[in-house]
Amino acid sequence: MVFDLSADQREIQALARDFGEAEIAPNAGEWDRQHGFPRELLGKLADLGLLGVCIPEEYGGAGADFLSYIIVLEELSRADAGVGVTVAVHTSAVTLPILTFGTDEQRSRFVPPLARGEAIGAFALTEPEAGSDAGSLRTAAGPDGDGWRITGAKQWITNGSFGGTVLLFARTDPDTPGPKGVSAFILDGDQVRVTREEEKLGLNSSSTVDLVIEGAEVGRDRLLHEEGKGFTVAMATLDGGRIGIAAQALGIAQAAYDVAREYALQRRQFGKRIADFQAIQWKLADMATEIDAARLLVYRAAWLKQEGRPHTEEGAKAKLFASEMARRQTAEAIQVLGGYGYTKEFPAERYYRDAKITEIYEGTSEIQRLVIARSILGLRSRELAQG
Ligand SMILES: Cc1cc2nc3c(=O)[nH]c(=O)nc-3n(C[C@H](O)[C@H](O)[C@H](O)COP(=O)(O)OP(=O)(O)OC[C@H]3O[C@@H](n4cnc5c(N)ncnc54)[C@H](O)[C@@H]3O)c2cc1C
Repeated sequence: MVFDLSADQREIQALARDFGEAEIAPNAGEWDRQHGFPRELLGKLADLGLLGVCIPEEYGGAGADFLSYIIVLEELSRADAGVGVTVAVHTSAVTLPILTFGTDEQRSRFVPPLARGEAIGAFALTEPEAGSDAGSLRTAAGPDGDGWRITGAKQWITNGSFGGTVLLFARTDPDTPGPKGVSAFILDGDQVRVTREEEKLGLNSSSTVDLVIEGAEVGRDRLLHEEGKGFTVAMATLDGGRIGIAAQALGIAQAAYDVAREYALQRRQFGKRIADFQAIQWKLADMATEIDAARLLVYRAAWLKQEGRPHTEEGAKAKLFASEMARRQTAEAIQVLGGYGYTKEFPAERYYRDAKITEIYEGTSEIQRLVIARSILGLRSRELAQG
């Protein structure tokens, strides 16, 4: 068993960390208040190859392995979780499924612009009445000539406002309820309309929107995978995507720990550094231990995926543990900072707000437990969409 990163992985880690420290972290507080980062940031990420880290070079990507990509998400999220999720959805939830399930024509047409960051990807599964139970989605793709005409509404779509490439799930068979009647389609940004930008607790620099699809015409060339197999695409996408969200949680927790450790070594009360009090030492020790444990789970799941081995259970465990750990330990970071932790003078409160979402999207913690339980108990295969 080798725990060292390879030279290539260390190089890409340093690249993402340096960029995060120089160009992202110093602005993250302001982007949180303004509810958005400047669009130029995406151009800079693209120039560094960070919008296509694990996409093969022949498709316009950087050609690195999946673990390298996960490390990039960890580093970007350490600087700003909103930037982290933007890159995660773009890559894990759009570029990779097109690469995996697309025809040669779809791969060569849609993947290079995504990998080069000329188009930003959005993944449109959730609807107002269909969250964890995404198999009950109602957006309809009715037959229209040789293709389909799609009508419906999607909710809370990350990157949906960027007008790029939208991987959208719709029901092609109205007579088949549940997951089996669902197909996946690749839409252009101008085939959907943004109806609302969501106000959130955190993750404010990322864009989360509601969309409507008003009779969008799509030909057979826009069907991803087979008709009625959209759910297979969604499940495989979420299996990999949640390793990215676990990395996001890990990055947020690491950032919170860094701030807490630094503060504990500076702040003096009762004539001592607060780091000299055992109560504070134990908090930092628990943080460091849980962050390490999460990192091992996340990297293992990423390694299994890149080896082409089963990773559903391991990815769910990584996301479950890393996200709950991030929520716990960002709260502890606030505690270490005391009153200052509760103010906007320090980023600890932002980390706490940002961490919470990692327990919800790409499958809630309850759904992760379901996935893990089914796997360890050998129960029937999954029906839950986001699980
Ligand atoms: C900021 C943000 C960004 C998002 N980005 C995207 C995106 O880009 N694309 C996209 O398609 N979606 C996106 N989502 C949607 C997200 O994936 C869903 O919110 C999530 O899957 C949960 O669905 P829900 O919110 O409808 O909760 P519900 O499914 O209504 O769940 C409510 C509660 O019930 C529990 N529950 C539900 N079913 C079960 C069950 N069977 N057993 C036990 N407990 C259960 C849940 O765990 C939860 O605690 C985003 C959401 C947010 C908030």
